[in-house]
Amino acid sequence: MKILVLNAGSSSQKSCLYDLKENTLPADPPEPLWEAQIDWTHQDGCAKLKVKTFQDQVLQETCPSDSKLADTLKMLQTLWSGTTQAIENSQEIDIVGHRVVHGGEIYRESTWITAEVKTAIANLAAFAPVHNPANLEGIEAIENILGNNIPQVAVFDTAFHAHLPPAVYTYPGPYEWLSQGIRRYGFHGISHQYCAQRAAQLLDRDLNALKLITCHLGNGCSLAAIRDGRSIDTTMGFTPLEGLMMGSRSGSVDPGILIHLLRHSDYTADQLDRVLNHRSGLLGISGLSNDLRQIMVAMEQGNDRAKLAFDMFVHRLRAQIGAMLSSLGGLDGLVFTAGIGENSAAVRAATCEGFEFLGLSLDLSQNNALPIDRDIAHLDSKVRVLVIHTQEDWAIAQECHKMASRS
Ligand code: AMP
Repeated sequence: MKILVLNAGSSSQKSCLYDLKENTLPADPPEPLWEAQIDWTHQDGCAKLKVKTFQDQVLQETCPSDSKLADTLKMLQTLWSGTTQAIENSQEIDIVGHRVVHGGEIYRESTWITAEVKTAIANLAAFAPVHNPANLEGIEAIENILGNNIPQVAVFDTAFHAHLPPAVYTYPGPYEWLSQGIRRYGFHGISHQYCAQRAAQLLDRDLNALKLITCHLGNGCSLAAIRDGRSIDTTMGFTPLEGLMMGSRSGSVDPGILIHLLRHSDYTADQLDRVLNHRSGLLGISGLSNDLRQIMVAMEQGNDRAKLAFDMFVHRLRAQIGAMLSSLGGLDGLVFTAGIGENSAAVRAATCEGFEFLGLSLDLSQNNALPIDRDIAHLDSKVRVLVIHTQEDWAIAQECHKMASRS
């Protein structure tokens, strides 16, 4: 079974193709046959296309961007033609899986894409104005290129959090907010779910018997408290702005600050959006970068604001892990994933130090050894600590396989 995965964003688009031999899921995540990415962030109006195949054929091209549809076609054509060809023709693709950021209250699991589902994704753009329209464009691009009969699956980033209890998902504003859809949804669900399943596999334990906290720390950061294989608490909420301090997002701040700025600084909604989403977090505090690597370099050179940004990041991370801990009432495993979680030994060590009182003991040599998909706690630690490479595309492909096996 050949499964194409499309992760369509507003400024970039990633795609990959998995080939499941004999239609079975391997125990470990396989390498995709083909991976491609289009980046539309270049100022010159050009699209940057990068393609890599299983045989390490690489193609890099910068071309004038005609339209997103034309660029997507160009990207997909590299799958069945040219030096990066991985299949004979587009008809070999059995199924296409899409990452869809917001599934609202309707979609509690992955679903086949129909006209009705597309309308619902479009309507949910009110809650995810940047992401859902881009996801929908990706779905329509595939219909245009591969035809209307290709089976497509939507995998929602909110679905894993669909079972949050009412006391967790309700905001303490007016009760009517709930009927307006203003509630906590949670995001990064595909990554949190994948990491929880992978953690159980690596620990050789039943996921339903584990209490886990998964820390997705990338440009966007969130935590999930996982019990019985389900997310029971999480740090992101109505939007991906709530919770932890992030690369350029503030995370949670006193909402009184927003009222103050609206009253006294003539801020418009768009300006507030820009400040909180793009000029805050590590970037806002350090004044240097949203990238932790650059913060670390500046910190080593004695930059005080870089040090403050790092210390705040860790302080807020520990505080929210504490909150997840109380929701779980115990902890078997702490999982670090995504760009910072997988690569920053300093963040992992500083975070774990705050939880030694639980009997959590990090093996510092393992922590420093660029561990991936490994347990880095001491043998006698009462809490396991894992670093897991998140594989959202593979998780989407697994969902497609599950859906196809059921039908
Ligand atoms: P992601 O959104 O998962 O791609 O994560 C991207 C972020 O991961 C970057 O902006 C960096 O802050 C962080 N990151 C990536 N590599 C490293 C590294 N080696 N050390 C520290 N942070 C890293």
